[in-house]
Amino acid sequence: MTARILVVDDVPANVKLLEARLLAEYFDVLTAGDGQSALAICEKTPVDLVLLDIMMPGMDGFEVCERLKANSRTAHIPVVMVTALDQPSDRVRGLKAGADDFLTKPVNDLQLMSRVKSLVRLKNVSDELRLRAQTAHTIGLQDLERPDRPDEPGHILLVDARASSQERLLRALKPIADVSVISDPQAALFEAAESNFDLVIVNANFDDYDPLRLCSQLRSLERTRFIPILLVTEQGRDEMVVRALELGVTDYVMRPVDPNELVARSLTQIRRKHCNDRLRASVQQTIELAITDDLTGLHNRRYLDNHLKLLMDRAAARGRPLSICITDIDRFKHINDTYGHDAGDEVLREFANRVRATVRGADLACRFGGEEFVIVMPDTTPEMAAIVAERLRLMVESRAFAIPQADTVHSVTASLGISSLRAEGDTPEALLKRADMALYQAKNNGRNRVVAAAA
Ligand code: GH3
Ligand code: MG
Ligand code: MG
Repeated sequence: MTARILVVDDVPANVKLLEARLLAEYFDVLTAGDGQSALAICEKTPVDLVLLDIMMPGMDGFEVCERLKANSRTAHIPVVMVTALDQPSDRVRGLKAGADDFLTKPVNDLQLMSRVKSLVRLKNVSDELRLRAQTAHTIGLQDLERPDRPDEPGHILLVDARASSQERLLRALKPIADVSVISDPQAALFEAAESNFDLVIVNANFDDYDPLRLCSQLRSLERTRFIPILLVTEQGRDEMVVRALELGVTDYVMRPVDPNELVARSLTQIRRKHCNDRLRASVQQTIELAITDDLTGLHNRRYLDNHLKLLMDRAAARGRPLSICITDIDRFKHINDTYGHDAGDEVLREFANRVRATVRGADLACRFGGEEFVIVMPDTTPEMAAIVAERLRLMVESRAFAIPQADTVHSVTASLGISSLRAEGDTPEALLKRADMALYQAKNNGRNRVVAAAA
């Protein structure tokens, strides 16, 4: 894993120490001796993680962190606070300033490496998502990541074997989230897969069950792999923590649990989960926008170009038939010329609805361009395709189209050409070409008819 890490400390010896360890793991290291220069570096260079000293003259680490998180250009960079003293109040203050994690000096090597690696891994995921979301320009990212966005309530699943600690953790978490409590880890896995949690807290206090098994199962199930996991473990169980982080556990706290720290860490995870959920939804929306025709909501040509080959290959591999139908509205220009372009659009929308109503779920209906549509029908012989095409022709002809702009109706017809997959050497271009030739024939023969390409 290569990543660029910025080490910020006012004591040069501390900088050198961390730098040497990170360089030994082949990280790319930048350094800064004070808060101002740290902020300047983050503004102008892509940084994947900041290791930030708290006690510095001038601007202290808390302020640096707050400023990084308040700036939309740097808010996504994970920040690990490095504290001289093991001060729980520092930790809580750091997390409130938006820090993603903290380490205590002298920095334990294993913890340094596993925390750095796990945060860099997380950042890679969100970077990828941000990149894809940006392409869309559909959502202002400023909005997505603004830290001052009001927190939506979180849903936490607490997995804890003991009634006494359940009660204690529940009391701490109740003010910030809806909490479901479960003692049986296997039941917890089902519950997590069934419901929508923002965070699973696993208290490692089972008598004869390895809590990391649950963590690893949560990571491998499709339904749960994006839910953050926070592990509660015994002081001094470093090897368990390291293994947990390697398995993809997002964070941990040591017993005895400081309620403030637990709350702050849970809030950080819930916030991150919500932000990633929004990014993911926007990526989904981008994909849908990219393959959908705005006017009709059918798939667009780009999608057809990509998908037709796939459907043909699959049919060929299984020895199954496949047919396509190209349909073009007759004398459509006349509709535009008579009632205007908006009325034409209305007819196209209604035409698309009738196409949708005619085809099966497994068929792929696309707007090919203008007033031309293509329907790809897997598992469909030429004979079946002719029947479907004829049904569509009738659906169009039998009921006049409403023209709300002119408060009237207009009779519309369409011509259709069909072609079917050949046993050998067929391509999407050739298949479409044959259907197009058949369509041309249908137009020439007087329109409002179906013509099948020769086999
Ligand atoms: P034919 O029976 O030979 O198919 O005649 P036609 O008039 O339907 O065919 P032609 O290709 O001459 O005209 C198609 C018209 O469709 C021309 C174009 O302005 C119009 N058109 C293309 N896209 C749209 C659209 O998105 N909305 C509207 N309203 N019209 C469109
Ligand atoms: Mg036409
Ligand atoms: Mg046309």
